[in-house]
Amino acid sequence: MNHMNVGNVTAEPIQRLIEELNKLPGVGPKTAQRLCYFILRQPIEEARKLAEAIIEVKERLIQCSRCFNVTDHDPCPICANPNRDQSLICVVEQALDILALERTHYRGVYHVLHGRLSPMEGIGPEDLRIGELIARVRAGGIAEVIVAMNLDLEGEATATYLGKLLGPFAVKITRPARGLPAGGDLEYADDLTLTRALEGRRDFR
Ligand code: ZN
Repeated sequence: MNHMNVGNVTAEPIQRLIEELNKLPGVGPKTAQRLCYFILRQPIEEARKLAEAIIEVKERLIQCSRCFNVTDHDPCPICANPNRDQSLICVVEQALDILALERTHYRGVYHVLHGRLSPMEGIGPEDLRIGELIARVRAGGIAEVIVAMNLDLEGEATATYLGKLLGPFAVKITRPARGLPAGGDLEYADDLTLTRALEGRRDFR
């Protein structure tokens, strides 16, 4: 972690909060300091709401037993929705990707792998929800699986691996069309790019 030059002139609780905020993705030391002093200026109720919201996402949220989206209901609202096309599964790397895809016209369901294959980090198929995906497809009623992994090296390798595993099943396997930002995360793609990429999805075998 970055060593922050707040030293002994700063009260220990302030230093601690800055250090914790600094651990968040995209929050550098300067932003952490700004956030800390913003929280300090807020009424205690606001600070409590923030702290409770953080605890609640950890304590109350579970994973949907069907798609492994994070949810407070099982099955999650997407899996439980009769108006969603339950025969169309979009496979994503992380639950956050669903937020991005929900901004498009996509009306199928999802399957969250919770990561991607990474030999470097020692992440193998058994560490991801890959077995559960195969089980869903094997159970039948699935017409198409869209493999929407991020387009970096590990994402590509994961997609190729899934393509091979799903190959023997009588389902259409597709990937979104090119046009997602190269090496970029789904969450950063704009709505129109995502919509076009999904609409232009093509066979992947
Ligand atoms: Zn679900």
